[in-house]
Amino acid sequence: STDDESNASEDRVRVCVRIRPLAPKEAARGATISCRADGSEVVLDEGKRYAYDCVFGDKSCDEAQAQDDVWRELAPTLAPAAKEGYNVSLLAYGQTGSGKSHTMFGRKSCRGVVPRFCEALFEDGEEGLSVAASMLEIYNEKLRDLLVTSSESLRIREDPQTGPYAAGATVVKCASAQDLLRLVRLGARNRTIASTRMNETSSRAHTVFTVRLVRDSVEDGYSLRRSACVHLVDLAGSERQKRAGSTGTRLKEAGHINRSLSTLSAVVNALTKKDGRHVPYRDSTLTHLLRDSLGGNARTTMVATVSPSIDDGNETHSTLRYAERCK
Ligand code: ADP
Repeated sequence: STDDESNASEDRVRVCVRIRPLAPKEAARGATISCRADGSEVVLDEGKRYAYDCVFGDKSCDEAQAQDDVWRELAPTLAPAAKEGYNVSLLAYGQTGSGKSHTMFGRKSCRGVVPRFCEALFEDGEEGLSVAASMLEIYNEKLRDLLVTSSESLRIREDPQTGPYAAGATVVKCASAQDLLRLVRLGARNRTIASTRMNETSSRAHTVFTVRLVRDSVEDGYSLRRSACVHLVDLAGSERQKRAGSTGTRLKEAGHINRSLSTLSAVVNALTKKDGRHVPYRDSTLTHLLRDSLGGNARTTMVATVSPSIDDGNETHSTLRYAERCK
C-alpha cells in the first residue's frame, strides 16, 4: 500500500495508530511497555508487527509537539479536502483512557484535531464559504442533540441532495472559527450534563461533531459551488464489558456499543473489498448517519489509540486487530 499512496488513499480508509505515553501513575508503579512504534508499524513486546498507514509513538517529544505531529499528518485529509468538495470523516477508536478525546479535542495548551480543524476551515477567510455545524451523541443507538439539554431522541432522515441527517437537530450557521469553537464547547458541556443525568460515563456514547459547508468560487471564469460534509467522531470506549457483575443498563450499553463498533468495521470492510457486496450501513445508527462520508469518494480516516502499558495489553491487541481489519 506504500507505492502508490496518493491513488490508494482515494478509495479506502486510512488507518493510523497512536500510542500514548505511559501516564505518570503507570510510570510511577513501573508499568512495563507492551508495544512501541517503528516507522509505520506497531511492534508488540513478543515481536509481532502490525502495519498501518501511519503510527504516532508520542515517545520522546513533548505533548504539544506530539499534537502538532498528529495534526500535520491528518490536516490534508480534513479542511482542504472538504473545501474541494469531498465528504470527510475522522473517527477515534480505542479503549477508554487510551487518548481518543486527547487526540480529537485535546487541551488548551495542546489542542487536538477538532479545534485546529475549525481554524483551518476559515484560514483563507470566510469569503464564499458557508458553514453550519451540529453536535450529536449516539447512546444505546439513540441520537441526541448536544446543542440543547433536551434528552429527546432524534430520527435519521435522508435528504436527496445531502444524504442522511438527524431530523430536528440544532444546526448553527458559523461565520468564523470562534463560532465553531463555541459550539464545540457548548456540546461538550451538555455532554457532561447529559451523562450525569443518565448516570452514564461519557465513554459509553459516540460523540459526533458535524460540519456542512458550501464553497462558492470562480475558477477559469466559471462559477463553482462545492459542498461537503465533515464528521469528526469520538467513539465510545471499545473495551470489552465484563459480563459478570454487569446488570440491566450496563449490559444493554455493552451490547449496543459492541454491535455499533462491529458494524463500523463491517461497513469499512465491505467498502474496502469493493466486490459489490452489501454494505450494512443500516445496521447501526452511526454508520447510517455517516454513510456518505464513509469510503467511496469520501476521505475516511480512523485513528486507533492505544495504551502502551502491559496492564492494558489485551485491549491494545484487540484495538490493533480491529484497526487492521479496517484497512
Ligand atoms: P479517552 O478519550 O480514550 O478515554 P483521554 O483522551 O481522556 O482518553 O486520555 C486519558 C488521559 O491520558 C488524559 O488525562 C489525557 O490527557 C492523557 N493522554 C492521552 N493521550 C495522551 C498523549 N498522547 N499524550 C499525553 N497525554 C495523553
